[in-house]
Amino acid sequence: MTVSIYQLGYKKLSRIIFEWQAADRVSLMALFILMETYLHWLWCLYVWIRRDTLGAYVDIEMLYPVWLCINVMGLFTWWMVEYLSRIKNDDVRLNRWQIVFVSVYSVYIILIGLLLGHSGFFAGVSLVGGIMLGMMLIRRRYIWRAFLGQLLLILVLTSLQQWGGVNIPNLQRAISGVEILGSYNHLAETAIVLALENDIDRLTALDEIRRSAMLFWHSTYMYLAVPKAIFIVYVFRTLLIILDTSKEETLKHANQDGLTQLTNRRYGLMKMQDTFSLFVLEDKQNYSVILMDLDFFKRINDNYGHQVGDQVLQEVAGVLKSTLQETCNVSRYGGEEFLIVLPDTSHREVLTIAEQLRSNIAEHVIQMTDDFSLQVTASFGVYTLTCEELTRIKQDHMTSESEPVKPVLTKLQKLKRRHNKQTQVEYSISEQAQNGLPSDMCQRLISIADKALYEAKDRGRNQVVSANEMRAAKSRSESPSASGTESL
Ligand code: GH3
Ligand code: MG
Ligand code: MG
Repeated sequence: MTVSIYQLGYKKLSRIIFEWQAADRVSLMALFILMETYLHWLWCLYVWIRRDTLGAYVDIEMLYPVWLCINVMGLFTWWMVEYLSRIKNDDVRLNRWQIVFVSVYSVYIILIGLLLGHSGFFAGVSLVGGIMLGMMLIRRRYIWRAFLGQLLLILVLTSLQQWGGVNIPNLQRAISGVEILGSYNHLAETAIVLALENDIDRLTALDEIRRSAMLFWHSTYMYLAVPKAIFIVYVFRTLLIILDTSKEETLKHANQDGLTQLTNRRYGLMKMQDTFSLFVLEDKQNYSVILMDLDFFKRINDNYGHQVGDQVLQEVAGVLKSTLQETCNVSRYGGEEFLIVLPDTSHREVLTIAEQLRSNIAEHVIQMTDDFSLQVTASFGVYTLTCEELTRIKQDHMTSESEPVKPVLTKLQKLKRRHNKQTQVEYSISEQAQNGLPSDMCQRLISIADKALYEAKDRGRNQVVSANEMRAAKSRSESPSASGTESL
């Protein structure tokens, strides 16, 4: 299937360019430079056509060698585009020609800058634009060297001009100085003609010419530099977009389970830790967790193969997503085990949710092919930590922690401690002291839900078991007079 550029969109297109082979990217660079030389060529053509008027402030004699140089560069670049596609797979030649190409272009652009009359704007944009383009498309090492080479060349040429008395020719005719009127030259001649035509004195005519010359040269610099400046902004924007998207994608890959597209265990636990800290901080009433495990899943793999097993996992994840709210923290906790965290949800509510999940999964028909479908069931362990229970844990924990604990340090930890007083051991103790809770609270909640899950398996699977009820029943049976529950 062919995809048009419009379908791809410029974001995708830009990414694709980054993934191109080296030779294709250099060819693209050559194409851009070809476009740039074409802009220069068109400028020469314009000046040549209007040479009668522009001749006053453009040295037409100089225009021909400059034009020739632009033609040569254009032909060379054109040839490069074609040649690079031929040496695509020859790395040595490709590298050698990249160096030649970058060097030729560097010299060309510096010369054009000088010949056009040392415009800082044009030179700056050319330098930065060329580097940005080069860094994107060519080996960065070569571009870095070319950049240093260009700076050196500019320095040498400027010094030669300044102190060496070397006169580097340029296309701009001298347009300042009254004395110019005294001598016979093109500018003086134009001023005389203008003065006669408009019945003004020669100095005013010269001023007029000077103004239009400035306008012409400024428009020239704009014409030559603005496309490149727009290109720089575009490239910069694209790079930032690509960077943002890559960051998003990296994060997504790091946090997501590839098969089910749910969050993975690590991220699920991290999120759980966050919501649990909020629960403790904000004195919420309840904090619920559901641990779910598919029933007899191994049989599906054994009977129909791993691929079918994978599809079942995907479909079940789909049912979980569609049943639960988007804000719910659902993660793939293990192979066919899922963790659902519901902060601020009462035990009654979480039992209803788990029951809903159970029935939705059991009723869901997984259509493998036209004539083959299957259904699975799942077991659920549910636990809700109430704020009373949390207060009790805090009190128990504070009592057990009231005796100052001297951490047992290994030799390495002792050594580390000398350099860094706040070792990991000390940190975890201070962290516990801060909120008065054991540091592995989340794991404890999950393991309670896990016990209920195994009870659900024991009771015949495809059901929801409440850990709170189990624990209440257990403590009732252990001490019939006591009303509390067992400790975490
Ligand atoms: P129970 O009802 O007691 O939970 O039985 P079970 O067969 O589901 O439990 P068990 O833990 O014995 O089997 C889990 C199986 O899940 C074993 C493993 O091969 C399979 N499994 C784990 N991850 C994946 C996966 O990503 N894809 C597939 N297809 N199978 C997986
Ligand atoms: Mg299972
Ligand atoms: Mg399991």
